[in-house]
Amino acid sequence: MDRPDVTRLVIVGGGTAGWITAAAFAKLLGKRLKIELVESEAIGTVGVGEATIPQILRLNAILGLDENAFLSATSGTFKLGIEFVDWGAKGSRYLHTFGETGMSLGRVPFHHYWRRAAMIGQAGSLWDYSLHQMAADQARFGKMDRVGNTAMTGLAYAYHFDASRYALFLRSHAEANGVTRTEGIVESVARDGESGDITAITLKGGKTVAGDFFIDCTGFRSLLLGEALGVGYQDWSKWLPCDRALAVPSERLPTLVPYTRATAKDAGWQWRIPLQHRTGNGHVYSSGFKSDEAAADTLMAGLDTRPLGDPRPIRFTTGRREAFWAHNCAAIGLSSGFLEPLESTSIHLIQSHVSRLVQLFPRHGDPASLRAEYNARCAAEVAQIRDFLILHYHQTAREDTEFWRYCKHMDVPDSLTHKLALFAASGRVGRDVNDLFRDASWVQVMLGQGVMPADYDAMADQLAPAQLTEFLANVKTITARAVATLPTHADYLARHCPVD
Ligand code: FAD
Repeated sequence: MDRPDVTRLVIVGGGTAGWITAAAFAKLLGKRLKIELVESEAIGTVGVGEATIPQILRLNAILGLDENAFLSATSGTFKLGIEFVDWGAKGSRYLHTFGETGMSLGRVPFHHYWRRAAMIGQAGSLWDYSLHQMAADQARFGKMDRVGNTAMTGLAYAYHFDASRYALFLRSHAEANGVTRTEGIVESVARDGESGDITAITLKGGKTVAGDFFIDCTGFRSLLLGEALGVGYQDWSKWLPCDRALAVPSERLPTLVPYTRATAKDAGWQWRIPLQHRTGNGHVYSSGFKSDEAAADTLMAGLDTRPLGDPRPIRFTTGRREAFWAHNCAAIGLSSGFLEPLESTSIHLIQSHVSRLVQLFPRHGDPASLRAEYNARCAAEVAQIRDFLILHYHQTAREDTEFWRYCKHMDVPDSLTHKLALFAASGRVGRDVNDLFRDASWVQVMLGQGVMPADYDAMADQLAPAQLTEFLANVKTITARAVATLPTHADYLARHCPVD
């Protein structure tokens, strides 16, 4: 069958997913497509999603956003990683930082040298050699590509920002690039009787918006892909059992630290996100193990600053749609699935799905092969992130509550079992080159959660014992010196990206 040209793109939903999608499509395919975004202020957005990972810098570069203007507009701060408190064991703490720890020599990652030294009692914690950890502990931040004039990589960072201000910022950017915004509640979805493709949506009041391709950014509702096209949902709650959250803002932290904190609780965990004008907080928990009332008490008792409102409830089921693209409709954002906010991966998934969709976007109709490629790549990406998240819950010594006993003893995917065994035996990380989380991330979370490798890479023996000692001492000294040159995070923000 002849398929018409795809020239009219309709995006339904104007949360973070809708506006990132609109801004990116306008930038990359705006000359070919007429882009219309439909959203409803009456329905609103999920209103959370304030922590990111370094890949967001790529999105900003593609969109041509100025970093300082972006952070001022969103009351943003810098993020060097996530501090995990009480996860591997009660009383434990580690930082999953962005970027390498120490310095690789040749093909051998630093942690193998560190492990060799630790096995003979000559090294303490891996994080003693971490540039990010030292900067985070001292609440410092600055731009640094390299450490001094060494080959050691500098500070990798991401951002925290106010979710509602972020969507507005992207909206103004997308509208300036030609995206049309239509206010209204979608009431029905029309499909072609023969192909089953979506042809138009009808809004409350009767207005119809027709299109050739539709992107469903309607959040957990998944109005188009889930409801209209009937694409099912793979439920992953047996591995990621948290299904509710309560979110509440509180006053700004007295010291503006450059990291997110994730504190494990009796049936879930609590986030703390430092922003310039306030702090974002939330408690993610499993309703099978904790009541909403008890969760609210936990959240409020765990705040470091005075609350600025009442807790707002959010419900979700971890998992993903069976397909990310069906017929002439792709779902991006929460409408395509939701894993868990623990490693701040959702906004990244929006960005990577948008970029993949742009690369595979059909000019005529939507050939099945493009859809199949898109769905396979999205599924592989999400499965790898799922395993990384499960690791945090499963690899724990905690058995103090029913929730933690469940997590510790649950069956996990074979892919994760293999990774755990490989790291425990050899310090090696088994992953695909396309995986989002690199070796440095797996190493930090495995070690942070108590997996100590029994061995190290044989190539680390190439250094004589005295050279090994000198190498580790040099890394520590050079790193400490570099951190001492950085301004405080608060000073950096006040100087470069203050909030009006
Ligand atoms: P939404 O924000 O829900 O937007 C849906 C849009 O669809 C809205 O504009 C709404 O008006 C519109 N809509 C719905 N129905 C209709 C209709 N009938 N007619 C017209 N319009 C309609 N991600 C991170 O990267 N980092 C984090 O730290 C993080 N923390 C999170 C914490 C929690 C507890 C949760 C639940 C999520 C978190 N996320 C995080 C995920 C992040 O919030 C989302 O990925 C992001 O906000 C995108 O949401 P969305 O745009 O898909 O959906």
